[in-house]
Parts: sequence; structure tokens; C-alpha cells
Amino acid sequence: MSEQVSSILIVGGGTAGWLSAAIIAAHHRDRADKLKITLVEASDIPTVGVGEGTWPTLRNTVRMIGLDEKEIFQTCFAGFKQGGKFVNWVTHDDFYYHPFTVPLGYGQMDMAPYVNDIETFAREANFQEAVCEAGLAPRQVSEGAYQGICNYAYHLDAGAFAEMLKNHCRDELGVSHVIGTVKDVTLCDDGFIEKLHLEESGENFELAADLFVDCSGFRSLLLGQALGVEFVSNEKYLFNDSALAVRVPYEDEDAPLACHTIATGQNAGWTWDIGLTNRRGIGHVYSSDFLSDEEAEQNLEKYIGRPLTNLNVKKIKFKSGFRRKAWKNNCVAIGLSGGFVEPLEATAIMLVEVAARYVAENLPADRTIFSITEKRFNQQMDYRWQRITDFLKLHYMLTKRPEAYWQAHTDENGIPDSLKEDLAIWKYRGPIKSDFEGVAELFPAASYQYVLYGMGYKPEFSSQGYLYNAQDQADRLKQKNQVMTQQLLQSLPSHRQYINHWLAS
Ligand SMILES: Cc1cc2nc3c(=O)[nH]c(=O)nc-3n(C[C@H](O)[C@H](O)[C@H](O)COP(=O)(O)OP(=O)(O)OC[C@H]3O[C@@H](n4cnc5c(N)ncnc54)[C@H](O)[C@@H]3O)c2cc1C
Repeated sequence: MSEQVSSILIVGGGTAGWLSAAIIAAHHRDRADKLKITLVEASDIPTVGVGEGTWPTLRNTVRMIGLDEKEIFQTCFAGFKQGGKFVNWVTHDDFYYHPFTVPLGYGQMDMAPYVNDIETFAREANFQEAVCEAGLAPRQVSEGAYQGICNYAYHLDAGAFAEMLKNHCRDELGVSHVIGTVKDVTLCDDGFIEKLHLEESGENFELAADLFVDCSGFRSLLLGQALGVEFVSNEKYLFNDSALAVRVPYEDEDAPLACHTIATGQNAGWTWDIGLTNRRGIGHVYSSDFLSDEEAEQNLEKYIGRPLTNLNVKKIKFKSGFRRKAWKNNCVAIGLSGGFVEPLEATAIMLVEVAARYVAENLPADRTIFSITEKRFNQQMDYRWQRITDFLKLHYMLTKRPEAYWQAHTDENGIPDSLKEDLAIWKYRGPIKSDFEGVAELFPAASYQYVLYGMGYKPEFSSQGYLYNAQDQADRLKQKNQVMTQQLLQSLPSHRQYINHWLAS
């Protein structure tokens, strides 16, 4: 291996592989002559083919990579995602929102003690729920790409997005692309990866590099298989292990386009419903301990309102968990190869962004500092897996649904200690910004507030009454929210109309 990292080999051409390639290459575009990035992917091993919900972080990421936002919408049939609507998670007849825009006054005052009804916190403290319910775009016609008064992410076709990233990586960012199936890995004496052997013969029969990025999906070809890094199961806390995914056409091309992911609680899992401009991506996540595949299909049929015949149902089995170390020696796993907890809250692509940025920012490096980089990255990833687990578990553990699946989620033994600690504190004051200011933090306090309160959890604010003497300020903010809500409802264009108009202009 050379002194400094001058070559990176990425294995896998799914969303994780191409997004990582793009982030690293874009970060180093001014020294492209000193850093060779190659991506190898098998032609006959399909990508997982799902992953259509994203986080607002992607907005900055695609901008940094150099993608044109309008082109993303055109190429990936994208829609805006302004948050999640959680239907029937508490009982069989309820909903709450986790919008992406933070509550008014966020960071200055906590609105929670002053709302009339804790379940409607999102609505009383912020305008975005009303915007979503009305099916409106997050920005005005006069605003440009990447702008918008409402914070947003994207819903996009996963295959088209990977393809778009691939073209951009090859055409604009100088990433080399090799088609080939990795069949063997040669390790050096010290356990570093020396080279990969491809099944196909030819000049690229062997591929060597200084740093290897494992984006091979659930196989975890390099980190798991070649380097033997153990898989840590997360099933004790989050026990969904199966999914069905279908693509459902709209009744007509002008059908309303939801601008939020709709996650609906089912008897032993939940369904996702993601609106792209050309179709809906709908899926059912469930636990095989509580539901058979046939029963899940029936749930899905009921949700969609039509038989699944002709819909090409994709069945996916997964194990909730992650690798003990995401980085070992000169190999870092990004994407499903490093771990996957479950699809709720669409955390996986966001984690790819975070991990790839870390790699990009920590180059150039040489073998002497790899161990430090490895240690720090692994510490951050450990913390992130824990935080993701806690945040997702919060969605389930406060349910009042009687079915065995939901009751199992309320079992004390299945609640992580770290989440129990948070809840012990939030019993009196609810989540606040300073609870979440660490370098490896993923979700802001606002996200925890929306979910916690949406699930009907009310801290005992009154027991700490002396802390909550800002009624006038809270009333002013609530009044401001009402005014802003009305203004936005009157001025924002409909989601579908906005996209049609924008793409035609
Ligand atoms: C049901 C479900 C729903 C999801 N929903 C979301 C969501 O809404 N939002 C979100 O952020 N995430 C979601 N995810 C996760 C998301 O799909 C993945 O994080 C994302 O697609 C990245 O996958 P990947 O690139 O790591 O793996 P894959 O897509 O599996 O790609 C693996 C790549 O490795 C290649 N490969 C494998 N073996 C070899 C070999 N031997 N040689 C060469 N190449 C090889 C394959 O050809 C392929 O190109 C979901 C996941 C599941 C299971």
C-alpha cells in the first residue's frame, strides 16, 4: 500500500455504492488526479430495489455532489417529502405527523407545555402538518431549486436514482466503473485487504486499492465475509424481519400526490405509502413471528384496495442488526453491508450520506492513522445504531394497540436502557435541543418531540411549573403559527401542479 490513500475501490452499485462514490469524488474533485475511485458491481446480482424515502440531509448532499434538482425530479419521478404521517400507531383510529420543519420557537422556548392537547403538538407548534394535509408543495412557484419555506426531502425511484448517480459519477466526477463479480479476496499478513479477484477474466481480473468500501448489500462481502466482522442482532428491540413491496399505478395521471410518507399501523407491522409522480411505492413491513407472508399479502391487498395480481410483489427478508465494527483495517462498510435496522423513518440512505462524508473528510490518510480513523468512525457508528434503535422503538413502545405484535413492543425487556433513561428524564420535561447536540447525533429534539407527543405521551410539566412561565410568549407563537398556516394554505401551489409546472418551465 502506498503512503497516502490514492485509490479507493467500492464494491456494489446500489444506492449505497453510487452515493458513496459521488460523495467522496465530489469532495475530492479538486485533487482528482491524486485519488482514483473505482466502483465494481456484478451484472447479475440485483440491488435490493427499495429505499424510496429520504431525509432532508439528501437535499444538501445532492447539491454538493453537483446534481440539478429539477433533473432529479425528471429522472427519478421524484416528489417532495415533507415528513411522515403515522396512522393508527396508537389505536385503530388516530394519526400524528412527524414533519421536517421544527416547531416555532425551537431552541428558544419549548412549546410543548403550552399546547392545548399534547397529541396535536405538531399542528399547534408548526404549519407543516396543515401543508401536508392539504397536499401542497413546500415552496412557492417563485422560489428556485433547493429552496422552500417548508423543510423537505425527496421520494424517489431507487433504481432511477442509482442510475442517475452512476452517470454523474462516470461523466462528471471521474469515477471508473467496472462490471464484474467479486469471487475472492486476498488479505495481507496484517489483515488488510490487498486485492479482489473477479469471476470474469480480462484486464481487470484483479483489483487492488488502498481503501475498500464494502457496499455489497446484505451479503457484506468484504467486512462480514472476508474480514469476519460479527453481525450484532437488534431483533430484541426491533423484530420486523420481512417486507413486501409493490408499485401501484395511479388511477389517472392527475391524481393527488402525497407530499409525505404515510406509515399505517397494521395488525403485525405497518405499511408504507410513498408517492412518486408516476406511481406509488407501497410496502408492508412485518414480523414473521406474528404474521405469515400470506396474511401480509392480504393486509397489503386490503390497504391498496385491489388484488395483488399483476403487481409483481417483491418479498424481502432481512435481519435487524449491524456489524460489530463498520470499519476494519482498510475496509469500511457503507449501506446494507454495514447494517440495517428496519425501513421506519427511512434512516438507511441518510446513514450512507453520513458515513460516506466521514470517509471523504478523513482522506487523505495513510496506514499509520487508519487505526485512529477506524476507532473514531466505529465509536460514532455504534452510537448512531443505538440512537436509531431508540428513536424507532419510541414509535412502537407507547402504543395502546391490543394485538400481540404491538403488545410485544411494549415489553420492558425489549426497550433499550438508553431509551428508558431518556424517558425517565422526559417524564418531567420532554425532549429539548440540548439533549441531542453530540457530534454523532442524527435526529434533532424536534423529531423526538413530534413522535413522543404524537403517540400521546405527556410529560408532567405541571410538576415543574416554575420552569414554565412563558405563557404570553407561547400564545404569541401559537398565534403566529395560525397566521402562517393560513398564509401558506392560501399561497402554496398543489404538490402535483407545482411539479408539473416546474418541470414544464
Ligand atoms: C424493505 C426495505 C425498505 C427500505 N426503505 C428505505 C427507505 O425508504 N429509505 C431508506 O433510506 N432506506 C430504505 N431501505 C434501505 C435501502 O434500500 C438501502 O439502504 C439502499 O438501497 C442501499 O442498499 P445497498 O446499496 O447497500 O445494497 P444493494 O442495493 O443490495 O446493492 C448491493 C450491490 O452490491 C453488488 N454486489 C453484491 N455482491 C457482489 C459481488 N460478489 N461482486 C460485485 N458486486 C456485488 C450488487 O450487484 C449490487 O449492485 C429499505 C430497505 C428495505 C429492506
